Amino acid sequence: MHVMLGGTFDPVHNGHLRMAVELHERLEGARIRLMPCHRPPHRDQPGAEGATRLGMLRDAVAEEPGLMVDSRELDQDRVSYTGETLQQLRSELGAETPLAMVVGTDAFNTFDQWRGWMQLPELAHIIVVNRPGFPLAPPELVAAMLQERRAAEAAELQRSASGSILVMELPLLEIAATEVRSRAVAGRSIRYLVPDAVWRTIRDQGLYRLETG
Ligand code: ATP
Repeated sequence: MHVMLGGTFDPVHNGHLRMAVELHERLEGARIRLMPCHRPPHRDQPGAEGATRLGMLRDAVAEEPGLMVDSRELDQDRVSYTGETLQQLRSELGAETPLAMVVGTDAFNTFDQWRGWMQLPELAHIIVVNRPGFPLAPPELVAAMLQERRAAEAAELQRSASGSILVMELPLLEIAATEVRSRAVAGRSIRYLVPDAVWRTIRDQGLYRLETG
C-alpha cells in the first residue's frame, strides 16, 4: 500500500514525521510518500524555496525506510491539483495496488472546495487524521460521502485499491510549521521540534529570518 502525505513542509517537523511513522506502522508497512507542494503565494512570513524544503525533507527521512520523499509536484513549474497527482500515481502503481491520501480534519472539513473532490475516492482511499483543535465537522455533501464510504478499520484499506474513507485517531505532536517559523524569525530555539539535520540547515542558512533594511 502507498500513502500520499502532501503539505508545504516549510519546514518538515517532528509532528509530520511522527504521524508518518504511525501511519507506516498501523497500515502494515505502507510506504509513506511525503510530497511537498508549491508554496501558496500569500504567506505572511518568509518561506523557504522549494529546493531547500525538499533538501530538508530528504535529510529528515534519510534513515527511515518506511518513509520516502516524492518530489513530483515540486518538479513541475506550476501548482498541481491533487486529482492529477493521484492519477499519475495510480497509473504508475497499476489498478490493483491500494493507494491512500492523508488529509487532516482541518482539510477534510473543507473538502468540497477541492477541485474534483467527488472523484478523488475513485483514485485513492482517504485517511482523515484527527488534528487537535479541528473536530470532524464536514459539510453536508462531504458528510454523506463519508457515511457511504467509511471504513470500519485500517485493514479494510488493504482489500481494495481505492474508495474507502478511514478516520484515524493518532497520537500527534502539537507542532506546526507556522510556529517553527515564528520561533526562527524571533531568534528562539527550534531544536527538538525538527530533526537535527533540519535544525542545522535552518541555522546555517539563516532561513525564515525577516529581511531587514
Ligand atoms: P503550517 O503551519 O505552515 O500551515 P503545517 O505544520 O500544518 O504547516 P503542512 O506542511 O501544511 O504543515 O502539513 C502537511 C500535512 O501534515 C497536512 O496534512 C497537515 O494536516 C499535517 N500536519 C501538520 N502538522 C502536523 C502535526 N503536528 N501532527 C500531525 N499532522 C500534522
